[in-house]
Amino acid sequence: MNAVISSLDRNYRLCDTRITDSEIILYITSTLEKLCCPYCGTMTGRVHSYHTREIQDLPISDRKTILIVTTRKMKCINPECRHSTF
Ligand SMILES: [Zn+2]
Repeated sequence: MNAVISSLDRNYRLCDTRITDSEIILYITSTLEKLCCPYCGTMTGRVHSYHTREIQDLPISDRKTILIVTTRKMKCINPECRHSTF
């Protein structure tokens, strides 16, 4: 399944899977350690906070399919940037 996730977007990977009688839950996170601030272009690996988003996808074999995607809010390290987080 990780190959499927990576083929859809190589910047994401499958971390965990939980399968019950009624659901298939896929836990997905980014593979990128650093991101570029969209406001000033500075690369940063400093994480401000983590959030999860739940996305319901089409069912697989009559089981509800849910993607739990962990996203990060990053902190810009450029002291001259007008945006401290993105
Ligand atoms: Zn910035």
